[in-house]
Amino acid sequence: MYELPPLRYALNALEPYISERTVDIHYHRHHQGYLDKLNNFLNSVNYDYRYSLEELINHIDEFPINIRGQILYNAGGVLNHNLYWNSIGPGNKNIPVGTIKEAIDKEFGSFENFKEEFMKQAGLVVGSGWTFLVINGEGKLEIINTSNQETPYLYGLKPIMALDLWEHAYYLDYQNRRDQYISNFFQIVDFDMINKLYEKEK
Ligand code: MN
Repeated sequence: MYELPPLRYALNALEPYISERTVDIHYHRHHQGYLDKLNNFLNSVNYDYRYSLEELINHIDEFPINIRGQILYNAGGVLNHNLYWNSIGPGNKNIPVGTIKEAIDKEFGSFENFKEEFMKQAGLVVGSGWTFLVINGEGKLEIINTSNQETPYLYGLKPIMALDLWEHAYYLDYQNRRDQYISNFFQIVDFDMINKLYEKEK
């Protein structure tokens, strides 16, 4: 069975930007929910858990066609949330450092430009979806949006930073003020973690 990585911080560590209640429900019910459904679908076909979650996405054609959609949706849900919790954290790591700083400056001109572009893309998500910073096939950084629980791995892109724009991510704290949730994401974004992932994946 696949398992959730433990949260790296306390449930209240993201306050005041994201409340303890939101993190609790988001991690223990929504994230866990995607994982439980994924394991159930996979167990129903006696899957042997030979692949990592990323590999599972690329081997989806090995599964019966009538559950592929559910596997992709729930595996995407798990992967996207794993990355979301990794992308944020306490401790003021919200300014890019190291290799990722150089790459952001190179691709976007400056961190300020990058931030503006990321927030602009996030503002364009309609319905439930995500904004990601990804490494594309040419090894360059790109900001993309996906719908529902679609994962960038489906398109051969390696996501290194994720912003959840489903209402369950912010509605208890922000109601309809999604723009404020998006700009506050940049208060708690963790570029130490993002940099580590970038150095591993690039
Ligand atoms: Mn979510």
